[in-house]
Amino acid sequence: MEKSKTKGIAGRREAGGDVEFVVSAYQTAEERGAILSAIVQCSDDAIISKDLSGIITSWNGAAERIFGYLSSEIIGRSIMLLIPDELADEEPAILSKIRAGERVENFDTKRKRKDGQLIDVSLTISPVISSQGNIIGISKIARDITQWKVAQSHSAMLSAIIESSYDAIISKDLNSIITSWNLAAERIFGYSSSEMIGSSILKLIPMDRQQEETLFLNRIGLGERIEHFETQRITKNGNLIDVSLTLSPVRDGNGKIIGVSKIARDITARKFEEMRRNDFIAFVSHELKTPLTTLRSYIQLALSKSRNQGDRFIIQVLGRAELQAKKMTNMIHSFLEFSRAKENKMALNLSRFSLLEFMEEIISEALILAPDHLIRYESCKEATVWADRDKIGHVLLNLLSNAAKYSDPGSQIEVKCIVGSHDIEFSVADQGIGISLADQKYLFERFYRSNEVNSQKVNGFGIGLYLVSEILKLHGSRIEIASSPGKGSLFSFFLSCDDKAGV
Ligand code: ADP
Repeated sequence: MEKSKTKGIAGRREAGGDVEFVVSAYQTAEERGAILSAIVQCSDDAIISKDLSGIITSWNGAAERIFGYLSSEIIGRSIMLLIPDELADEEPAILSKIRAGERVENFDTKRKRKDGQLIDVSLTISPVISSQGNIIGISKIARDITQWKVAQSHSAMLSAIIESSYDAIISKDLNSIITSWNLAAERIFGYSSSEMIGSSILKLIPMDRQQEETLFLNRIGLGERIEHFETQRITKNGNLIDVSLTLSPVRDGNGKIIGVSKIARDITARKFEEMRRNDFIAFVSHELKTPLTTLRSYIQLALSKSRNQGDRFIIQVLGRAELQAKKMTNMIHSFLEFSRAKENKMALNLSRFSLLEFMEEIISEALILAPDHLIRYESCKEATVWADRDKIGHVLLNLLSNAAKYSDPGSQIEVKCIVGSHDIEFSVADQGIGISLADQKYLFERFYRSNEVNSQKVNGFGIGLYLVSEILKLHGSRIEIASSPGKGSLFSFFLSCDDKAGV
């Protein structure tokens, strides 16, 4: 046995977490054998050898881990123990190839663990050749690829979902360069993936909306997600389409934002339908407005005549007719405002007006709208309001008619205005059914009605509070609620008062 002549380096060296085996030319065969066997034991892959009849002759630590057999249990037994019945032909085929001196390419297959569980493995098989050049056995390296297979089928599933989606699913880097483009994106925008991957997303954005991209990237850079953003994009043939976009940051394994994923839904048909419905509502409301105004003036004429004549029955009947006509006028007014608000066409007609005169008008309307309730109002300090008089009147009457609708006849509705140094607080409080916190979040959305009122079958469309909030937004204000179920509701808002102009 040859001994090393100089001080040879032999054995394990650990560098930055990697284990490195160094074999020196000056080592003895014994030392080299020890190192090779350490390499085999340290490997993450199962390294197995067998003789030409398939009897296992060596079995490393990874083989114990992957297949569940200890080396003492399996050495001397047939390799067929590891092969599932349906793959029983594999081993004889490999053996005959090796015997014939043919190369066996690396291949993926299944093997059986001691507990019977099937695992995916990738095999490399090589002949073991003696010093005389004879094939004396077979070595096999088996890598457990079960996790990789799971990940692979997971990502195959994800790409199938992306490809079959009806929505365009696009990804881009932080310079707005498109990195992926699915089939729906091709269908919606008309460009193929080869035309778009590597191009800028700005190609799809109309000139007057290009700043949207900078805004999106800023928000994505902060880790924000942008949901259901309605906008327009241009297709390959130059058509403008309505889309709803949802954008999310894409992060690398360390959590760093490296791109953006975007889902674009073509909402052109929905927008068109909405526009038609909106036009229809606007048209019908407009057509109803004129005859109704005439009807109300006839009722008022008849009412004042019957008051002079003192016929109590006629006065009562005409009073009711006036109430219903008034409710209808409010409803039509709401529909018209609603269709304007939806198209962002609601504009303010600002003027200065006396708070006290305005409140008196509101209260006399409230007495007509809620004849069965107790309206409480204490006159406040005089001030000049700078607002759209009609629209703020509409806000208060909406709150008042809701207060009456959602509380028992005979209960009290309190209307207040409090003049502060810079602003005026308006409020309407009722003693009615109240609103749960869960419902309060959605009350200002179009067509939202609480489950409570739906179950109690109170009539309504769910557009009143949407309008209230849109009108107040245009005034730079907002509606606030304090309410709980069964305890009544208080709706309030602030408007700035014009202290420079005296009344
Ligand atoms: P509508 O009254 O036609 O349903 P609104 O937009 O005016 O539509 O109101 C939306 C919903 O808010 C109502 O359906 C009701 O559930 C709730 N709501 C509004 N005002 C009150 C109130 N004063 N008390 C209880 N619930 C209310």
